[in-house]
Amino acid sequence: MSRAAIRIRDDFWSAYQELVTGTVIPYQWEALNDRIEGAEPSHAIRNFRIAAGLEEGEFGGFVFQDSDLYKWLEAAAYALRLKPDPELERIADDVIGLIGKAQQADGYLNTYFTIREPDKRWTNLYEAHELYCAGHLFEAAVAYFETTGKRRLLDIACRFADLIDRTFGPGEGQLRAYCGHPEIELALVKLYGATGEERYLKLSKFFVDERGKQPNYFIAEWKRGRTPIWNPGMPDLEVYQAHLPVREQTAAVGHAVRAVYLYSAMADLARLTGDVRLREACERLWFNTTKKQMYITGGIGSTHLGEAFTFDYDLPNDLAYAETCASIGLIFWARRMLRLEARSEYADVMERALYNNVLGSMARDGKHFFYVNPLEVWPEASMRNPDRRHVKPVRQKWFGCSCCPPNVARLLCSLDDYIYDIDEAAGKVYVHLYIGSEAGFEMAGRAVTLRQRSGLPWDGTVKFELSVPGEAGGARFALALRVPNWFQTAEPRLAVNGAACPYRVENGYAVVEREWSDGDRVEWLLPMETVLIGARPEIRANAGKAAIQRGPLVYCVEEADNGAPLAALSLADDPALSAAFVPDLLGGCVVVEGSGEVPADMDWPEDAPYRPLRNASRPKRLKAIPYYLWGNREPGEMSVWLRC
Ligand code: ZN
Repeated sequence: MSRAAIRIRDDFWSAYQELVTGTVIPYQWEALNDRIEGAEPSHAIRNFRIAAGLEEGEFGGFVFQDSDLYKWLEAAAYALRLKPDPELERIADDVIGLIGKAQQADGYLNTYFTIREPDKRWTNLYEAHELYCAGHLFEAAVAYFETTGKRRLLDIACRFADLIDRTFGPGEGQLRAYCGHPEIELALVKLYGATGEERYLKLSKFFVDERGKQPNYFIAEWKRGRTPIWNPGMPDLEVYQAHLPVREQTAAVGHAVRAVYLYSAMADLARLTGDVRLREACERLWFNTTKKQMYITGGIGSTHLGEAFTFDYDLPNDLAYAETCASIGLIFWARRMLRLEARSEYADVMERALYNNVLGSMARDGKHFFYVNPLEVWPEASMRNPDRRHVKPVRQKWFGCSCCPPNVARLLCSLDDYIYDIDEAAGKVYVHLYIGSEAGFEMAGRAVTLRQRSGLPWDGTVKFELSVPGEAGGARFALALRVPNWFQTAEPRLAVNGAACPYRVENGYAVVEREWSDGDRVEWLLPMETVLIGARPEIRANAGKAAIQRGPLVYCVEEADNGAPLAALSLADDPALSAAFVPDLLGGCVVVEGSGEVPADMDWPEDAPYRPLRNASRPKRLKAIPYYLWGNREPGEMSVWLRC
């Protein structure tokens, strides 16, 4: 598929991209330099300075701290792609110089081992994240090279990749091992794409193929007596997706971020190598993850113990983990599944995770973030019940383990990669996401520009305009528009140049094939209904409850609008939900209101926790806001699911 030149120009998303480039990236640079008052120090830049011999001191932070700088650099590269910024580019060039100084003579690059345990390289692959950090270096290097054309970081990355390629593999004297935290696998595919070096693709395939084979590497490493970082005990192979060879895995298990990073690489490799069994494993794991272990917000990984998947339909709302990075990884994986095969269900999940879990993780000021994304919050329980301490009612400034904020930054700055696929060979242009943008590409030997204007997420009107300049007439190709699964009851309507146009639905895409002429206009009208959603009975946490969804957005109720306890509030038999745009609430959003009920007698004597049941209720208006905006006012209760 040829790569289109895409620029986002969207009422909703452009503001987020500006927030990331104007606020998030500069703020995170300050955080990496430990200059944010009252926030946990990052130590990241300081570690590189110590490893480079520019400063004395001890390594600070987690063993994977280097990856925060790499993810920031990757985000900075995408920001520079959005618009030139000489000051940002100078900072990036300087820090790339610093990274170069921290690289060892043989190409090795990891500040933890260089500073603290120089003799222990590659001895704790289970926990030490060396290859994980290398992966984030490679991703940053590819992004920076592709944006700026500057090779310095790419050369640093390739020197390290070459060392890893010499160290790991099936040959004599090589380590038949892989990383406890998948990441390098998908990064090596990107490095292969940028350099054309087949070795990097082969190395990625080696790491994926080796995982979970018997005898198990992590067990062998443990028996040899590795120096533990966290866990001296016997390795838990499921947590690291190393319990079975990947082609035999059928259900998502273990640490959720690790899982979806691994599955992303598997999908890449299945596409690039034509490996049918690997592709089938991806499809099985996709089915299990998204049909049985995903929250309605696109969150995955329901327990904080190990930040992990548990089992089918175990999706508690108040204890949820649903890490931001896990949903971002799910988006990475969905994007790669779409490249394997354009099926709308992949884009549906991508959209669900993006508009809800991921967007909700960042405050409107771009300076506060959630790591954990619950679907129900009682602030006092978060403070005082040790089981719920991971569930924060307020976004934090920065975290000791700050994987999520830079991950949000790099995703939102590179959102243009997620909107279209141009399949020139098949003569098809896929539109996966409805985000205002301009895409330039070649089709049937002609230069085509597709301009999209979208009313999402508030309004379902999407308009396209085509430019096919030149004397040679039109260009014949198929436009394939995703039919979103928003549980709407009406069919989307399509019009070309003002006239209703029939379409056929293929894998969830409305396909119109014709000779497109310069100036052709397409109108795609998506019904935007406010729908009550139920959960299948096996998802016990949602029994007798409903959630509100409108278009791609999941809604929630907050104490600020509805009082407390929210558990007392239920939907009336006919809640008669109405939706209206409120410009002065939380930057402007569509608010859903309806009829609710609370117990008629909310006034209980202090000494009566219990009493005979009275079923009488009285009406109460309820007001719901988009989930992604929760927690932007005074701290209070929040709930996505409402009794009904
Ligand atoms: Zn994270």
